[in-house]
This record gives sequence, C-alpha cells and structure tokens, in this order.
Amino acid sequence: SNEEAAAKAAADTADSGAPTIFDKIIAKEIPSTIVYEDEKVLAFRDINPQAPVHVLIIPKIRDGLTQLGKAELRHADILGHLLFAAKLVAEKEGIVDGFRVVINNGAEACQSVYHLHLHVIGGRQLKWPPG
Ligand code: 5GP
Repeated sequence: SNEEAAAKAAADTADSGAPTIFDKIIAKEIPSTIVYEDEKVLAFRDINPQAPVHVLIIPKIRDGLTQLGKAELRHADILGHLLFAAKLVAEKEGIVDGFRVVINNGAEACQSVYHLHLHVIGGRQLKWPPG
C-alpha cells in the first residue's frame, strides 16, 4: 500500500538525525491545532484523523528519541510525561472514559515520522485488534 511504501521510505531516513515535519510544528513554522502544551510536550490534532478525536503528543526536544525502540533509560522521564499528557488530553477532549494511545514503531508498524509521538484516538467505538 501507499502507507507501507511511505513508511519504508521514512524508515530509511530515521537515523539520519534530519529534522522532521514536527520540528516545524514545534517552531510554529507550519500551523497546527494545539490542544495541550507544557514546557516539555506539545499536543496537536492529526492532519489525517482516524477518529473524531485524533491528537498527537510529542516531546518538544527529540533528544535522539526518533522512535520508542531507540529509547534509553535517560528518556524515562519524558516517556512518563508523554503518557500522563495523553490522559490530560483525553480529559480535555471529553473521551477519558474510552480512548486509545498508540505508538507506531518502525516501518512494519507504519511509523512515518521519526520524532517519537503518541496517538490519542477516540470519540467513537474503537475496534480490536487494530490493522
Ligand atoms: P505515524 O504514522 O508516524 O505513527 O504518525 C504520523 C502522523 O503524523 C500521521 O497520523 C500523520 O497524519 C500525521 N502528520 C503528518 N504530517 C503532519 C502535519 O504536517 N501536521 C499534522 N497535524 N499531522 C501530521
């Protein structure tokens, strides 16, 4: 599929340290709809939403965290902060009683942006297992 091909191409650049589209979002060089922000993380609506609520949460500083599979112990604090921010976003969006948090890791999981991000998805009945 297109999605898989794009994910494979993205994976080839994963370790290059090249900036991603999310750097431009953090710098507000390209617009996004921000739903939550603090000193460490930014949460904004996905441009291609898969549910009525689809928010991405990213660390403002990538610090080598291109994907969860590259996490080191020094990233534990930001990983916890991101997960707690997911709960805050779910509350703010009114979906705290039913929502999903997803991290796609690597081409086989269709990761397309190599700056760690959590997807917070909800606002409809979700199905299991995901595709
Ligand atoms: P991944 O496939 O890597 O898990 O998720 C990347 C997500 O970023 C996708 O759901 C995609 O729709 C979203 N995305 C890509 N580019 C942009 C953008 O420029 N703005 C926003 N808001 N989302 C984006």
